[in-house]
Parts: sequence; structure tokens; C-alpha cells
Amino acid sequence: MNTVRHRACHASATLTRSLRIPSRWRTISTNHFIHREKDAVVPDSGFTFAVKDNIATAGHPTTCASAFLRDYESPFEATVVRQLRERGGVFVGKTNMDEFGMGSHSLNSAHGPVLNPKFDDVPRSAGGSSGGSAVAVRLGDADVALGTDTGGSIRLPAAYTGVVGYKPSYGMISRRGVVPYANSLDTVGFLARDVKPIYDLVIDGGLIHEHDELDPTSLTSQSRRRCSPGGDRRPPKLEEHFRNPSEITIGIPQDYRIAELHPSILAAWAAAEDALRKWGARVVPVRLPSTQVALPAYYVLAPAEASSNLAKYDGVRYGSRAEGGDTDASGEVLYSRTRGDNFGREVRRRILMGTYSLSSEAMDNYFVQAQRVRRLVQRDFDRVFARPNPLRDEEPFDLSDLEDGWELENKRGPAQVDFLLCPTAPTFPPRVEDVRTQGPVDSYMNDVFTVPASLAGLPAISVPVPAGNGMEEGGGVAGLQVLGQFWDDARVLGIAHQLSRLMPVV
Ligand code: GLN
Repeated sequence: MNTVRHRACHASATLTRSLRIPSRWRTISTNHFIHREKDAVVPDSGFTFAVKDNIATAGHPTTCASAFLRDYESPFEATVVRQLRERGGVFVGKTNMDEFGMGSHSLNSAHGPVLNPKFDDVPRSAGGSSGGSAVAVRLGDADVALGTDTGGSIRLPAAYTGVVGYKPSYGMISRRGVVPYANSLDTVGFLARDVKPIYDLVIDGGLIHEHDELDPTSLTSQSRRRCSPGGDRRPPKLEEHFRNPSEITIGIPQDYRIAELHPSILAAWAAAEDALRKWGARVVPVRLPSTQVALPAYYVLAPAEASSNLAKYDGVRYGSRAEGGDTDASGEVLYSRTRGDNFGREVRRRILMGTYSLSSEAMDNYFVQAQRVRRLVQRDFDRVFARPNPLRDEEPFDLSDLEDGWELENKRGPAQVDFLLCPTAPTFPPRVEDVRTQGPVDSYMNDVFTVPASLAGLPAISVPVPAGNGMEEGGGVAGLQVLGQFWDDARVLGIAHQLSRLMPVV
């Protein structure tokens, strides 16, 4: 394995800088792989990649970390896995996760919890639900890892483990072969130690242009061309973005200064603001008031979609059947026994929440209201971004429609920005023991800064920056998040790269 690993690192020198992992990080059992390839051979121009276990790979089980799918083998491979192989990728394993992507700590897994390798004092959360993918790149077991992000599942584990995690614009990367959680929010994205290998695949490697006719949510080739800010022009190399930093404006959402935000993360955010200003960018305060209600809206919409997606796991067509579950002639007993035995606690909770909010007596008060909030969140973003949203007509707005307290740039309205900068998570990685004693709502709180971009389908990336001190403060690292307008992914990756150069983690 070491030789293979060594060769893999060597071969991928163009993709990622060398990986120096302190040996003590290897002493705890991180449990990040569900399946690991034994003899992966990496050609000179290749790179290694790990795949979250809700993305189908042929020849290995795809379990979604659920007891329900413990023996499930997909008859085909996900499009995105094929796309990585075509670009020189060598598959190294399937990574552990929260069951069906539901969770923020990768503790809700039928394969046992994932632990964060950055800490050897006490077991701490690696973030979720793509925790296994984040740990795989953190430890150098893969140059790139595929994850899925419905409400923050790539960005949160990236922030907790100190790697880069990128959620593309909705509809960019094919979801064919990806087990759905909440269809209107699900995206496939990438984790790596730097921005560069991600840029190499998505922008230079052309994934941004590849429509997949087998995925009904994949943006058509025509729309992709229409959405591309530079038209068909070749996008610049990663280092070539922003030759003149004074031309870009970065917005700091004031509504994200919540009481729960850890003071050291607040300080790191302020330091990033200073660094970007010194670099020459314009940095301005902005307001995104509806994003304050984005979290509850997300936790109505995502479980509603999940409850309908998971209805097919009945032990008849999909999933393993409970012992004795088929002795009763009534279908309902068969299903409920099988579903009760095989789904984990959190998944059962989501199914119940979703079924409730879609029920006729609750629909108007929950599901319909949450859809309204989703539109307001999208509108907040469209108001502050200088670039129009290529999917929506520009909405003229009335100043009287803005609440008191909006920061107005001039009489024309709120400040117009290219990017938004905010923390990825309000706190540092919590102790596993503390998460286990928390209620579900405390766990949901971790997603407060990540769900707004998901509801609006926008590109967002978490970058590690220096922050705080010691084990209780993330081992000195926190994640900051950059968001951009729909399909402005190349520039979002460009500014993230710039931010990691301005604030290197040593
Ligand atoms: N933590 C969020 C949830 O449990 C996000 C999960 C995800 O993005 N897959 O729904």
C-alpha cells in the first residue's frame, strides 16, 4: 500500500502539493473508508480519488452507510466517477458518511462513526455528511474526494478537517448514479487539500461544460453556454484571475454575526476581510435578512423530499427485508417492520418530519411557507450580486420594500458585490461525546451558514484559514466560505485560491 501511496503522491504532483501528515494523526482509528481498493496503480499523469458511498461505483457495494443497503451493488457506475476516470483518476475507495447524507457529523452511519484525524486528545467530529471523504483527503489517502452537498455536507466536513470543500452550482455535475436525498437541493462536489486539483477538473478539465442526458437535473448544453459569463472564451488559469483586485467587491453579510459564532472564528473572518482589503479588493457590508430563516426552511424542505425519496425502500424491490417481516399478509406490516429495523434513528426522524409537513393539515403552514422562504433567500442573493442570475429575470425592486437597516450603497439600492465571505460553521469541531448528548436541533444549527447557498443553488466553497489556538479551537484552523452568483464557479474557485494564498495555514 505504501508503495502505491508513494507512487500516487508522486504521480499527482501536478494536481496537489506534497502531503505531509504528522504521524500521530494516524494513531486514531478514523473509520473513513467503507471499502478500500487493495491494488490501485496510479499512472504517472494520474491522480487518486475516493468516492462517498452514496455515489455508485460498479463492482463494490454502494450502501449509503445504511443497514438497508448493506449488500446493494449498483449495476452501473455514476457518470461523475466515469468522468474522473477519463481524466486520469484512479479510484481508491468508498468513504463513510451519515446514512443517506442525513447528518452534520458523520456519526449516523451503519458502519460506525468517522473521527477527525486532526485531534488525538478526545474524539471529535469530522463534520458530515461527507466526513469520510474529507478525512481521506486530509490524510492523503486520496488527492481528490467526491462528496455530496444538500445543505452543507461537503463544506462542513472540509471546515472541520482543514481541507477545501466545493459545492458547485446546482445542475452542473451529473447526479446520475447518486442516491438522492432531496432532489431540489442535491449537488455532487469535490474535496481536496487545495483549490488547484478541483479547478483542474471542473474548469480546466471541462466538467463545467458536460451535460448528462441521463440526469434530468443536469443543465442542458445550451443553458450552460448561456450561463457562462465569458461565453465560449477559455476561462483563465487559476492564478490568472483578478489581475486587478480593485475591480472586485466582496460583501460581508452582517446577518451572519450571530451570537453563537465562536469569537475566534469571528476574528479569523475579520482577518480575512483585512487581508482582502490590503490585497486591493473592495470589501463592503451587505444584508441578507431572509437567510436568518433559511435554516428552518431547509429543515422542512429537505426532510419532505427525503421522505418521498426513501419511500421506495420497502424490502421488496430495494433494501434488505426484516426477519419475519414477510409473515404477515398485510403489506403495511411488512413495510413498517422492515423500515423500522433498517433505517437509523435520524433517517426515521427525517421521514416522520417530512411525512408530517407534507400531510394535508400541515402542508400550508410548513411546506408552502418554507418554499416561500426559499424564494426570499434567492431574492436576497440576487439583490446583492452584481451579476444577474442567468436563470431568472432581473427583478426590479422598490426601495420601500427593503427593511430598515439594509446597508444602501446609494439611492439605487444595496451594495452590489462579486462574492460573499462568511464562516462555514459557527463553531469549531465539537467533541463526539457532546454531539451524542445534544438534541437534533443543536446538530442542525451547524448548517446555519451553509444552507442559504443550497436553497439558492449557488456555488460555495470552504477554505481553511488560521484561527484560534489549541485543540478546543480547531487545532488553529477554521473554514471560511466564499459564495458567488449562479454559474460563476470559475471565479469563486479563483477567489478561494486567492484567499488561501493570503491566509495560508502553516
Ligand atoms: N446536515 C444537513 C442535513 O442533515 C446537510 C446534509 C447534506 O448536505 N447532505 O440535512
